[in-house]
Order: sequence, then C-alpha cells, then structure tokens
Amino acid sequence: MRVRYLCDRVIEYYWSRINPQNFTALTAPRDPYYILIATILSQNTSDVNSSRALARLIEVVGVPVDVGKILELGVERLAELIRVSGLHYAKARTILQLLRSLSREELEYDEPELLRTKLLKIPGIGYKTADVFLLMYRNHPIFPIDTHIRRVLHRYGTVDLRENYERARRRVEEELPREANYLLKAHLSLIQHGRSTCKARKPLCNTCIVNPECLKRL
Ligand code: SF4
Repeated sequence: MRVRYLCDRVIEYYWSRINPQNFTALTAPRDPYYILIATILSQNTSDVNSSRALARLIEVVGVPVDVGKILELGVERLAELIRVSGLHYAKARTILQLLRSLSREELEYDEPELLRTKLLKIPGIGYKTADVFLLMYRNHPIFPIDTHIRRVLHRYGTVDLRENYERARRRVEEELPREANYLLKAHLSLIQHGRSTCKARKPLCNTCIVNPECLKRL
C-alpha cells in the first residue's frame, strides 16, 4: 500500500493549495471538445502557454466549440492561432482529426473503454490525453500518468521510468480506490508535488512530505 500512502499524503498536503489556473484542462469551458483540446494543447509545454493558446481559440470559436468554424479554419490558420503552445502544426492536425472523427454524442455518452479505444486511434492522442479526458470529463475511474507523475513514482520506487504506460497505470490503480474523485485529486496533487518539490532537476527531498517512505531512486 505504498502508493496509497503516497497519494493520501500528497492529497492531504497539496489539494487545498492547488491553483486551477495552473492546469489548463481545469479552466477550460465544460465542453468535451474543449477539455480534449486543452489537454492536447498542454502536451510538451507549460500551462501558461497552453492556456494562452486556448484563450485565443475561444475568442475566435466561442463556447461551446463550433465544430464547423474550427474545420473551416484549416491547419494553417488553426496552427497560427495556437502557435504559442508549441508543436502547433501537429496539435492543429490532431484537433482537426478529433473533430472529424468523434461526435459530441460519442464523447458524452460512449461507454468509456470503447471511447478510449476510439480516442487512441487519433494520431496525436496518446494514453495520457485520453485518460485525462475520461477522468476529468466523464468521471471514469482511471489514473492518467504524465511525466511528473512517472518521475515521482519512479523515484518513490513504484514504477520504472521506461515502464510501459498501461502496465504502470494498472499497477498504480490496483492500490487505489476505484473512485474518480479520489483519482482526480491524486493525479493533480502528484503533478503539483512533481512541479514544486520532486522537481526534475533538483528535488527538494529535505522538505518532502513522503521522504521517510521514498526510495529516492534519483
Ligand atoms: S523524497 Fe525526494 S525523490 Fe522522494 S518523492 Fe520526495 S522529493 Fe521526490
């Protein structure tokens, strides 16, 4: 139950301190397309940049997402709008493919595992992006593992840095309650822990709340 201990501790410490502004998907309009677009924009960039890109898109497209309007933009204009998020051409192609492939109804009502399979078929949508959507929008009890979480779990001694995503996810989920609310808190609190304490370059082990339990595989 070491993972359960880690998650309980980080939730206890970080959850009340989390600023939603630091998580683009949390501040995105409650629209399935926008939650997915926010998660795509967040790939390989800071939340400041992805939030700025999302704000520009919302300005042009409005809320809820007007699918026709984004498709009309095409790759060039969409990429220009979201340029600040980086990898903007690849992200624009992924967003357009998402809008062409999946209807709002499928995103809202499909059985979660079926929807996951459909999402993973879209180039540019990987496990983490699909799982963040399923957890945050569909309240499906799944545990997305991003780079911060993988680093923390590796150092803590639970998963290996290069371990297959699915195996790592299942192993962590086995130790945690199958409750979306708990998993969301654990997911965001672990990211916060990775950003503020278990940093990539210089982890602050001396002040870390799970120091006694951590294997510190640095
Ligand atoms: S003790 Fe150090 S390596 Fe372990 S979780 Fe804390 S900051 Fe990370």
